[in-house]
Amino acid sequence: MDKYEILEKYYGYRSFREGQEMLIDHILAGKDVLGIMPTGAGKSVCYQVPALLLPGITLVISPLISLMKDQVQALNQAGVHAAYINSSLSEGQITKALAFAQQGRYKIIYVAPERLETERFLRFAMAVEISMVAVDEAHCISQWGQDFRPSYLHIVQFVKRLPKRPILSAFTATATGAVKEDMICVLGLEEPFTLVTGFDRQNLFFAVEHTKSRSRYLQHYVAGHEGESGIIYCATRKNVEKVYELLRREGVAVTRYHAGLSGEERQRNQDDFIYDRKPVIVATNAFGMGIDKSNVRYVLHYNMPQSMENYYQEAGRAGRDGEPSDCILLYSAQDIMINRFLIENKEANPDFTEEECRTIRERDEDRLQTMNFYCNTKACLRTYILRYFGEESNTSCGKCGNCQKHYVEKDMTQEAGKVIACLEEQEERFGINVVAGTLLGGKSAKLKEYRVDRYDSYGALSRMREQELKDLIGQMILEGYLRQTKDKYGLLQTTGKAQDIVDGSCTVIVKLEPRSSRMAEEDDRIKGSAKRRSDILNTRGLAFFEELRELRREIAREKGIPPYLVFSDKTLVDMCVRLPMSREEMLEVNGMGAFKYEKYGERFLSCIMEYTGGIREKFYFGD
Ligand code: ADP
Ligand code: ZN
Repeated sequence: MDKYEILEKYYGYRSFREGQEMLIDHILAGKDVLGIMPTGAGKSVCYQVPALLLPGITLVISPLISLMKDQVQALNQAGVHAAYINSSLSEGQITKALAFAQQGRYKIIYVAPERLETERFLRFAMAVEISMVAVDEAHCISQWGQDFRPSYLHIVQFVKRLPKRPILSAFTATATGAVKEDMICVLGLEEPFTLVTGFDRQNLFFAVEHTKSRSRYLQHYVAGHEGESGIIYCATRKNVEKVYELLRREGVAVTRYHAGLSGEERQRNQDDFIYDRKPVIVATNAFGMGIDKSNVRYVLHYNMPQSMENYYQEAGRAGRDGEPSDCILLYSAQDIMINRFLIENKEANPDFTEEECRTIRERDEDRLQTMNFYCNTKACLRTYILRYFGEESNTSCGKCGNCQKHYVEKDMTQEAGKVIACLEEQEERFGINVVAGTLLGGKSAKLKEYRVDRYDSYGALSRMREQELKDLIGQMILEGYLRQTKDKYGLLQTTGKAQDIVDGSCTVIVKLEPRSSRMAEEDDRIKGSAKRRSDILNTRGLAFFEELRELRREIAREKGIPPYLVFSDKTLVDMCVRLPMSREEMLEVNGMGAFKYEKYGERFLSCIMEYTGGIREKFYFGD
């Protein structure tokens, strides 16, 4: 097999992502590599694919037990034999795992760095062929980083003692100057091929909200994203409890996580979250390292984190599957005080001298300051983040919270009149999306389903951009010309005041983002590449998606694994769009590897057959 066949067979992907292939090729050519890639970029593939092609075993050093378990489960799901060795196993289990490993049953073994020092593990390592040592979360080796782990220093000694030097590969998502140097020097990488892919995560929407009531904002937001998975970060345990109670009282399926809970409860709550039994979790920053849940749709920060590093890492847990997701920080000036307090009272590390402690405190202060700037800048948030992480970026992204806040005013009374005409023509039977789609002359599946092209208003505002039109409608609601029904349909209706527009006795002024046409195009392109599920699927498609999701939950329950390890949301959406009816067609679905097909493919096929009666033409779920 070659690397492409492996990617197809075990992962169900047809092509490598930016950077992955280069790293893999260098490893296969016997070179050390350093891969600095943002969360969700697909680092695991970079060492797992070569691991399957190299002659011996690959050891993956990973700092967290939960992370190892998750990765190994995912590999086994995909049909790769892998194991982990850490303190969560009993001595007996370790003996067994090592014996199997010695027989060559596993190509990939995850180990905790502490394990490398033990005589027993060393004996094992000397007796087998180790082709590669892959260091995950490699920034943990640097004393300059946030997550320094002294045990990472053992890696170097361990590698030195092996009879034959294996290839070393190191991966991380966070690396500023000093940390990067450390990874190369301290780990002892030899002339590594270094690849830094962009830190930009196109599918994430960033915003800072200066809201009067954070609680109300939160309630609103969570209610508006019902059924979606989200993390809400708070600075203190007390806040976690408060926010947790608030949401729980609202009937949200929510759980919580902080260091004050027993280990047992933390594990249970974490599992509830991972297995989607409780899709929302309120947590301190103790939560999240090693959480590999790919379908987190939003990360809200109830409090300001202590640094941009923390923020980007925590926020970055949203949207690992590449689907659009929100990262929203709720700002309150008093958070600065809380954070100062936390920094000043941080327990001093006894290994550091007084001088070093002072340096660290100053550094923490600086970081907090930068975080505060982020919260208060009027410029593009994405650009701010990228610059902070050392990426040149001079343009505005046009789609973060701040970019969308730069307004110009425009008289849109005429356009408002057309909106009202459209509502009257459609007898107020639709929500904002269909109304806007009609006026824009849209061609989506949903619009076809409603046959909106029979209305005179169809395409009446086709020259407007969708967002512009939605802003106009939003403004009309705000000013009381229109209202939305409060049920789940959110139908648009006119009020008595709307007549003033028709009579021409008032004007409607809308605040719009100024933009050159070039930027508008860019925006459309970005939108096209990261569509929301509801843009891809029509109403029936979304209903069918829920059916598939239910089947996924059922399988996950049977197997005792998290649903996203069965298939990602993306894979299910693709199934809805393609409606595969044979093995061959099913294998075309994004994320459907041969092994996964053998395990679950049939069940999804029969679900599709049952739903459609085998006649694809009658069903039209996608665009
Ligand atoms: P990281 O460790 O860099 O945060 P992961 O290795 O967890 O990222 O990968 C993130 C997601 O991207 C996973 O769901 C993974 O299966 C998916 N992925 C990785 N490589 C590809 C690829 N070449 N094509 C499509 N999806 C991919
Ligand atoms: Zn922006």
